[in-house]
Amino acid sequence: MWSADEIARLCYDRFSELPKRGKPELGREWTLLAAVVKVSETQSLDLPEQKKSEKEVVSLGTGTKCIGRSAMSPRGDVLNDSHAEVIARRGFVRYLMEELRAAVVGEGSRVFCPGDERGKWRLLDGISFLFFTSHTPCGDASIIPMIDSQSQPCPPIGMEEGTDRPNEVPGVTDGDGTLKRRVEGEEGGACKRPRPDTEEEGERKEEEARSASEASAEGRCSPAKCSTADPDVPSAGGLEEQARDIRRTGAKCVPGAPGDPRLAGRDYHSVGVLRVKPGRGEPTRSLSCSDKMARWAVLGCQGALLSHYLQGAICFSAVVTGKCPYSLPAMQRALTSRCAQVTGLPAGYELPPPQLLQSGLEFAHSHAQTERSHQQGQGRVSPCGAAISWCAVTDQPLDVTANGYKQGVTRKALGTEKSRSSICKTELFRCFQNLLAVTADSQLPQSLRGRELKTYWDYKQAAQTYQQAWLQLRMQAFPLWLRSPRNLLLFH
Ligand SMILES: [Zn+2]
Repeated sequence: MWSADEIARLCYDRFSELPKRGKPELGREWTLLAAVVKVSETQSLDLPEQKKSEKEVVSLGTGTKCIGRSAMSPRGDVLNDSHAEVIARRGFVRYLMEELRAAVVGEGSRVFCPGDERGKWRLLDGISFLFFTSHTPCGDASIIPMIDSQSQPCPPIGMEEGTDRPNEVPGVTDGDGTLKRRVEGEEGGACKRPRPDTEEEGERKEEEARSASEASAEGRCSPAKCSTADPDVPSAGGLEEQARDIRRTGAKCVPGAPGDPRLAGRDYHSVGVLRVKPGRGEPTRSLSCSDKMARWAVLGCQGALLSHYLQGAICFSAVVTGKCPYSLPAMQRALTSRCAQVTGLPAGYELPPPQLLQSGLEFAHSHAQTERSHQQGQGRVSPCGAAISWCAVTDQPLDVTANGYKQGVTRKALGTEKSRSSICKTELFRCFQNLLAVTADSQLPQSLRGRELKTYWDYKQAAQTYQQAWLQLRMQAFPLWLRSPRNLLLFH
């Protein structure tokens, strides 16, 4: 068995062990962390009735950025979405590819064993994966009721743990020591009480919301008012219903969806709606992490390519979140309830939704923690521009990118092989083709037999069972999901 704190600690420690490259500057830059943890349960030899479980981080990601539409590449060589959750998932796919390769060539995998059908593999008994994120995912899950400090079930952020003394956070306490909403700078839109919109006001708020959105999910909050998480305190459902205001997200509703009402207080946002990530300036085509994680909970996180080789979806058994503003009802709504009614899924895709848990341990580089340790003269607190991917593979496990390409590549080298991240579409496709190349004809999965497949798009479309599940999910839960333009998927 495991606890949420144990998982958080494991992921934070793994992060600390990584080299400095791509890490945020302490006290000035913040970032988000996400990871995939493998849990292996075995029967204890001494006590056969007890299970022993080993936990291992197999993929880890950091990052806060997302590129705009015009920077997307038809060669599949740029990372469109570098939010930590997405980076962690892509690294996990890379890890799974390597494990599958080991299984296919008979070197023995620590994860897979032959499935029932020829060419298909399944997870070994006792193996499961869970997802860790240092913060509430952006988008729908981040629309969190804010609760008055008087009725807080646990010490609000900004209080020293274990005391009733506020931390030394500028602007947190009033003269008389009562907590008040922090007056935030230009990024503070998320926590400001909305006023009736005038046009100018509306634009200003939009700008605020956009910059705040990068912060909204990762621990920045008004210390007095947010629904602070505590793993020991069950969801404050009743309190949340009484909340007069909500934390806001800068992720806009997808085109075609009824927009946010933008009314004062708790009626500012629509809830349960697909949202796109904000970018700097131009809009992105990337769905929010809440939406992507809801999709992974049904289709698995292995993606279409790997599904050719797998007997069913690989879903996370749990999603553990670090200490940050958090609402269990909002997480449930965003990650599981929206897809709970979907029926007609093919065999292997009807898996239970992930368990949702929160740890009381905070990431040392969270936005809130960075604000607390920031010192004068250090320069403005800002999100770290780099994204780190690390996964448990033998060759080059570490991959640091900025703006979707390897960090530090010269402008001249952009677009060359050297500039590509090892988790971009092209590279994962290359790994997949290597897997195909080492698969004996007699062991080829049925969906790949006797077919003339060339492009990335072809191989994804040929994954019939996965595509069938995706179609059901889209039709029943996410009809407005923004799909990648086909011309960006025709590389080979
Ligand atoms: Zn995100």
